[in-house]
Amino acid sequence: MKRSFAAFFAILLIPACLFGCAPSYFVKSDAVFAGIVLDVKLYGGNPEKAYEEMVSLATEINGAISLGEPDSAINAFNESDSGKKIPVIRRVYDLVRLAKTAYAETDGAFNPCLPDVSKAWGVDNDGIATGNPPAVFPTEEELNALRAVATPDLVKTGEENGNYYISKNADGVKLDLGGIAKGYLADEFKAIAERYNVVSGCISLSGNVILIGRYKEGDSERDWGVGITDPREKHAYVCGFYTQGGVSVVTSGDYERYYFSDGIRFCHVVDPFTFTPTGVERTDSGFAQKADYVISATVRGASSSKCDALSTAVMVLGAEKGAELLERQGYDGIIFTADKKMKVVGKFDFATSQTGYTEYERI
Ligand code: AMP
Ligand code: MG
Repeated sequence: MKRSFAAFFAILLIPACLFGCAPSYFVKSDAVFAGIVLDVKLYGGNPEKAYEEMVSLATEINGAISLGEPDSAINAFNESDSGKKIPVIRRVYDLVRLAKTAYAETDGAFNPCLPDVSKAWGVDNDGIATGNPPAVFPTEEELNALRAVATPDLVKTGEENGNYYISKNADGVKLDLGGIAKGYLADEFKAIAERYNVVSGCISLSGNVILIGRYKEGDSERDWGVGITDPREKHAYVCGFYTQGGVSVVTSGDYERYYFSDGIRFCHVVDPFTFTPTGVERTDSGFAQKADYVISATVRGASSSKCDALSTAVMVLGAEKGAELLERQGYDGIIFTADKKMKVVGKFDFATSQTGYTEYERI
């Protein structure tokens, strides 16, 4: 039986969040770093301690990997010469290895070695913050010069006597872990919550959601409700579904971080094959918006870091190939395209209807 979604509408308007909240949940919402908000609703055990530990872990990881922190380990790596070993904490070592694996599993659609390409288009954090296009767009020749080093195969990870390091096999190789770090953190948050005996919870790190146990409502329990933000009407959900705990739900889209130039939307995900922002192609006269590009990709599955990498990869691959990737990897997904199509991979317990203002045709 389909359950009504309308009753939950407009309760919460963050991407992929839960609906409703029993009073006995520990509820907290705080910006943890650079515009990233950690929302938690935790039940059972010691949620205060769990939350404290999550915030301190987020701060530590951000300090180690942020491209905006001049002293971060990743910036030290990015500035280093070929062969130099850059010491990192074990978690950064793990994260780099996960990013390399994601590159292999997505046949290169997820590529953590594109920070200079993002910068050239002004779709890196600094560029996007202005909301404006760069003074000059990069030429194809300038971008092609970055190609040889844009591969994580040239990033080496190592461990010696319990000390971890990363190094590169060619000058100019750089890392940007922004496409997987939130998912990695969400997985770690789940482990923290479980260590503090939390039995039911929803942890959301700006769109990366982890669900624990079942949602408690008075004396009863039910599945969690998850709403997906309408990519073109951000104050509404485009659809909602119910899901059991023990999974993560991650959305990547073109509607949070982007700028417009001549009516064309340039978003923060870069296509590693064309070296343009996804959804943008070069034409003889300048740029054009691709008609059917992915504007929102939600992925559901066991590992949040994997959901995070896959959702970014689906943005790159488009609806058809993105759906094939999810099927191959055994992850579920809901994909929306600019020409108003909706592609679903796997089985979802949808609420009755789409509630956003944009109608998407199921394909
Ligand atoms: P997400 O919001 O998870 O889709 O990740 C997008 C972020 O990942 C961007 O802000 C960049 O930091 C980085 N990024 C951009 N394009 C890619 C890509 N093709 N593969 C991996 N990371 C990317
Ligand atoms: Mg991602």
